[in-house]
Amino acid sequence: MPASSSRKDIERALVWFRRDLRFIDHAALYHALKQARQVWCAFLFDTDILDALPSRRDRRVEFIWHSLRELDEVLREHGGGLIVRHGRAVTEIPALAAALKVNTVFTNRDYEPAAVARDAAVATLLSEADIDFESFKDQVVFERDEVLTATGTPYSVFTPYKNAWRKKLDAFHLKPYPVEKYATALAKPPAGMVRLPALKDLGFTKTNLLTIPIQPGLSGAAALFEDFQERMAGYDRARDFPALKGPSYLSVHLRFGTISIRQLAAAAERQAGRGAEVWLSELIWRDFYFQILHHHPRVVERAFKPEYVSVVFDNDPALFAAWCEGRTGYPLVDAAMRQINATGYMHNRLRMVTASFLVKDLHVDWRLGEKYFADNLNDFDLSANNGGWQWAASTGCDAQPYFRIFNPVTQSEKFDPEGKFIRRYVPELAKMPAKHVHAPWVMSPLEQQAAGCVLGRDYPVPVVHHDLARRITLERYGEAKSARKAI
Ligand code: FAD
Repeated sequence: MPASSSRKDIERALVWFRRDLRFIDHAALYHALKQARQVWCAFLFDTDILDALPSRRDRRVEFIWHSLRELDEVLREHGGGLIVRHGRAVTEIPALAAALKVNTVFTNRDYEPAAVARDAAVATLLSEADIDFESFKDQVVFERDEVLTATGTPYSVFTPYKNAWRKKLDAFHLKPYPVEKYATALAKPPAGMVRLPALKDLGFTKTNLLTIPIQPGLSGAAALFEDFQERMAGYDRARDFPALKGPSYLSVHLRFGTISIRQLAAAAERQAGRGAEVWLSELIWRDFYFQILHHHPRVVERAFKPEYVSVVFDNDPALFAAWCEGRTGYPLVDAAMRQINATGYMHNRLRMVTASFLVKDLHVDWRLGEKYFADNLNDFDLSANNGGWQWAASTGCDAQPYFRIFNPVTQSEKFDPEGKFIRRYVPELAKMPAKHVHAPWVMSPLEQQAAGCVLGRDYPVPVVHHDLARRITLERYGEAKSARKAI
């Protein structure tokens, strides 16, 4: 926790909430409350972000909306309230800061290149009006240059990064910010500034978020975490099986900051055992990809590894559509794609399988898959999504070697042995015997009739032949690598 003066040396401050929609253990709010006599809180529905969303039915916008309602309630209980604006950050934030006559705007840092540019533009406009802009680390345990190699360079391989991360960690880094202690400085929003616009006024319609169900807000995060704490010890054994309740499902809450990363990492640290250890590693992957994005913003557009920049992709629109819609004829891939389409969530094992399948079986550029996930995942985070896609495409910093290509059938047999997950999302295959549910094309026409699923009529025949597709991938990656060496 950075040191700050205990003297109130700021008269009026504004805390701009973004991906940190909570009242507890909030760095920027804590610093503002500690330093300023009067603190207002605001959230902006940023039209630069909203206008770029491909659909007006977006679970994330609804998640934010519900979470804001809860945040407002908590702030009110403590004497404040949430001001909500709708517009462009460069216009709205300086205007609000001026209207409230604040001396400083406090925020938590966002590491995505577009957000960094936005914040720099807002800070410049504020400074022209003599208003300070202060930002804090909040959404990661270690950021930017905090974990570097002995020679002062950023890590690009996970295991040494993780070891250095663990070595640096002490109780101080996981200490919660005691926001409540200083809450008396919260100021009530001026009349007329408090109304949370209805979703339709923001141009969006309701989704199936609450019926999936995903419980938004601080309360949703707390309930999920309570449930997961009891399962954490078995995380290492259950996490790879999509039909089991193995992972925490907290990613959307981490994405929107309805739970604190410090709280989660501290809980994993407290719990001894393999389950907690493996789960903490996943949280460290999250920090790892944030620092990769910070140090190498080019990954947003390009392969991290230059040798794979020139890999040839076919980008066949029909194959891409079959993948998006979950009708490739490979049951595990289709079940996974139908899961993301129906819920906005996809199990980690399946993100790896579907990403690999798109790139290495269908020969579609990883950037198209990355964009599809970005549009559809509730927990979409540029750093983790790009990291995950580049890992699967073997173009990333610490990626799967290109010659390791997931076999969608053996992955299915191994991680969904009875086909429980497949049957949940691909009802056409509900009556398939377990031995055929992973590869129904090996069944005779009579067997297909008996299982109530005739290929080509009720469920697609496979859109590609895995062994053939695999050979093409090996050739293309090999060629790209040798072409690079020849330069
Ligand atoms: P848990 O298994 O409970 O893990 C706890 C937390 O650790 C997660 O909530 C997440 O914040 C973090 N985490 C776990 N695995 C990873 C990882 N590999 N990289 C970075 N952080 C991780 N995660 C996202 O949060 N947003 C994304 O947009 C995203 N896109 C992905 C795309 C691909 C192709 C792949 C292979 C992975 C992606 N991941 C992404 C990582 C991972 O799949 C999800 O974080 C995880 O499935 C979320 O479920 P959970 O909260 O139950 O995870």
